[in-house]
Amino acid sequence: MHHSHDNSIIIAGEALPVIDMPIHDRWREAADRRGFDITARVADRYALALTCRRCGELSRTRLFVLMQHRPRCAHCIEAAWRQEAASAGLTFLRRDPGSTAYAWYRLPCGHDARRQIGLITRVAAGETGLRCATCQEAVEAAEAQAVGWELVGPDPKGDTNYRQYRHACGHQQRIARGNVRSQRFDCAGCGVTWTAAPSFIYLFRVLLPNGMRVLKLGFSRNPQSRLQHQLLGDRDLACHVLRVVAMPSGHDAIRTEKRLHARLRRRFPDAVIDAKDFAGALTVVTEVYAEWLEAEIQQLLDGIEEDSDDDGA
Ligand SMILES: [Zn+2]
Ligand SMILES: [Zn+2]
Ligand SMILES: [Zn+2]
Repeated sequence: MHHSHDNSIIIAGEALPVIDMPIHDRWREAADRRGFDITARVADRYALALTCRRCGELSRTRLFVLMQHRPRCAHCIEAAWRQEAASAGLTFLRRDPGSTAYAWYRLPCGHDARRQIGLITRVAAGETGLRCATCQEAVEAAEAQAVGWELVGPDPKGDTNYRQYRHACGHQQRIARGNVRSQRFDCAGCGVTWTAAPSFIYLFRVLLPNGMRVLKLGFSRNPQSRLQHQLLGDRDLACHVLRVVAMPSGHDAIRTEKRLHARLRRRFPDAVIDAKDFAGALTVVTEVYAEWLEAEIQQLLDGIEEDSDDDGA
């Protein structure tokens, strides 16, 4: 029952020699008050093997901890950690032998990570989230790859918003991660600028919180990213991509967009939506039109698409 073998007791995988010395009554009383039985004196003259009455398991305790502090059952503590990890969506794997404050956990993604035990308590309580550094890095590497760059590592200057990247030309530079996602940055090595890279004219339909449906016409290197990261001041806005027209470069897209707006404002001044109608909802202040103008804008975009097809031929 106590895993006794001759004159030793195994606790946490370690065989501890039983010390054949008396166990005093006042020790037994102190153990009793804490919910333990003293099974033996082990290892040296200052250590005891205690049996937890709650879980029946053995743990090793220093005599002074029993007499002057509160001995705790390592198994019950670990059981609590396991339960806490489970309610945080994790699997407790093992304690960190190097630090009592840390343990290893399996994250929902399947990766293993060393985390502070107190942090898991807060995650279980819903006070904070837990990110997998391995998965996070894979996401950031993919983001960089999608725009022709390679993630090298953290920012050499230590800014957590920045990373070090390597361009296809071989040049390395630090770039804000947000700019990599929205693709708004230039390469200082080869001079490729984001405005010279392929770009798009887009037309979105947006449902404003006041129930009004409006059209947003603009340009972006990445309309989906524009929709998600920049346009939406309020994330609950219902947005719909109506049209995306590819342009050969950002310069073309900007020029074409300006021309479109000038023409639309001149011909359909009534369709230009006043900024106060969407204040706070959209992160833009101009270039928003009434929904009834859609057919007209679509026609203009048809013309642009035909023009750029001609250019390509
Ligand atoms: Zn216990
Ligand atoms: Zn992961
Ligand atoms: Zn470059």
